[in-house]
Amino acid sequence: MTNSITEHSIREVIVKDISLYINGQFVPAKTGETFTNVNPFSNEHINNIAAGGIDDINEAVASAKKAFDTEWKDLEISERMKYINKIADLIEEEAEEIAYLEALDTGLPISQTRSQAARAATNFRFYAKMVETHLHGQAFPVEKEFINYTLHRPLGVVGLITPWNAPFMLETWKVAPALATGNTVILKPAELSPLSANKLAEIIDKAGLPKGVFNVVHGFGDTAGDALVKHPDVKAISFTGETVTGSIIIKNAADSLKKTSMELGGKSPLIIFDDADLDRALDATIWGIFSFNGERCTSNSRVFVHKKIKDEFIEKLKERVANIRIGDPLDASTELGPLIETQHFNKVKGYIELAKEEGCEVFQGTVPVQFKAGNYVPPTLLLNATNDMRVCQEEIFGPVMAVIEFEHEDEVIAVANDVKYGLAGFVWTQDLTRGHRVAQAIEAGMIWINSHNTRDLRIPFGGTKASGIGREGGHYAIFEFYTEPTVIHVAIGDHHIPQFGKKS
Ligand code: NAD
Repeated sequence: MTNSITEHSIREVIVKDISLYINGQFVPAKTGETFTNVNPFSNEHINNIAAGGIDDINEAVASAKKAFDTEWKDLEISERMKYINKIADLIEEEAEEIAYLEALDTGLPISQTRSQAARAATNFRFYAKMVETHLHGQAFPVEKEFINYTLHRPLGVVGLITPWNAPFMLETWKVAPALATGNTVILKPAELSPLSANKLAEIIDKAGLPKGVFNVVHGFGDTAGDALVKHPDVKAISFTGETVTGSIIIKNAADSLKKTSMELGGKSPLIIFDDADLDRALDATIWGIFSFNGERCTSNSRVFVHKKIKDEFIEKLKERVANIRIGDPLDASTELGPLIETQHFNKVKGYIELAKEEGCEVFQGTVPVQFKAGNYVPPTLLLNATNDMRVCQEEIFGPVMAVIEFEHEDEVIAVANDVKYGLAGFVWTQDLTRGHRVAQAIEAGMIWINSHNTRDLRIPFGGTKASGIGREGGHYAIFEFYTEPTVIHVAIGDHHIPQFGKKS
């Protein structure tokens, strides 16, 4: 079975085998090895991908280092930003193809990959503007003796390691600030979603960036990813992925004293008080867990509902869940598609079985029989859940939401925080004093009050506890991660200098 292209607007796209992109060339892996890329809708082969390894990483880093020293770091900002804006233009031109490739590769519904492609172009425009207007230093006059001023200089070669759940948007979320601030880049995309990363290489090639400024090495985490993390000439690693992988990367980066940024997993609470606008809370709750097929780091996988409204809210949840449109990811009306791969599909199904063993009542939508070849998990509610269950403590990363009853504010804050993660949180109440109080008590990097997960690119994005270390986004990315300050100390007067060894 192959995906059907159901919209006239989607062009026929021929998906070829994929090479690495190193020093401005599309090249095979030095070992000649490839791996197979599979379509989650049909579990059929899509194409073969060059499997990069240590020698490819070494070559990519050498070319990126040369490009940094000779071409990129000293380019005038206005010239660099022409390239960054050109990449944004080309992403916009190719947005439909990007959305198609991403839906084909990941199983994400095309209506959602379209908005991700648009966001990717915005990432480049945003950082072009941000760097041009905000990446300036400070001056510290010291009486009439000195002026100290700061410059924010790029780090050099940076490694960007990304996951498969929103690949193109997350890649550009890192590539845009890294390049705009003057670094050169090795991108190691997730092995399960290589198509749009290859498209990004084609776009950047077309934008005419100097050779070696941007490189893509496809391959596995424990080979290509590992070599990138350990390479002594790579100055920093920005990583998005699972918490366990993040911990391994931090350990491996330590030998070469690399800077790391960690965007990791989540198990975020959504709390609905009895005075909440239930219709809006319902829309946000359903979207927050079932968009991106539930494979969203900030998903509200634990929903806490006040005792007084629980029965009413659960009835509404069930009605919505039963109506979610499960379908072909390439159909624009599809709301829920297949999970990325069979191993992950089995993991998510295993958690649903575990929920039954732990005492949950499981309520699910129905996957139409014509989609049985794909990795479809129906939208699932785990009712009568308690926060101590494994299904409420571990990241499932699928369309599965635990529903937990609460009665008192203190109690719900305590259980919402009783989890190792701390990425996001959501509070629904008409009482804004309580909304702020509860939001401020939740241990998470980002909390929304009476809103779904929507965000401005200027905010600090990231999590606390096992959900991450450091923040990206806005000026946090450009000042705190992709550049470092250098202080220049200038004497402007004849200040006293100690005169060691001088004959009196
Ligand atoms: P993953 O950790 O399995 O893989 C992520 C990337 O790391 C891949 O490119 C992989 O090849 C690479 N990798 C694996 N082992 C490595 C190693 N030893 N050295 C170097 N690189 C290695 O994660 P995933 O399954 O692709 O993504 C899902 C996870 O990502 C979920 O936990 C999700 O919550 C998280 N995520 C977090 C955010 C956030 O912003 N906090 C955003 C999206 C996804």
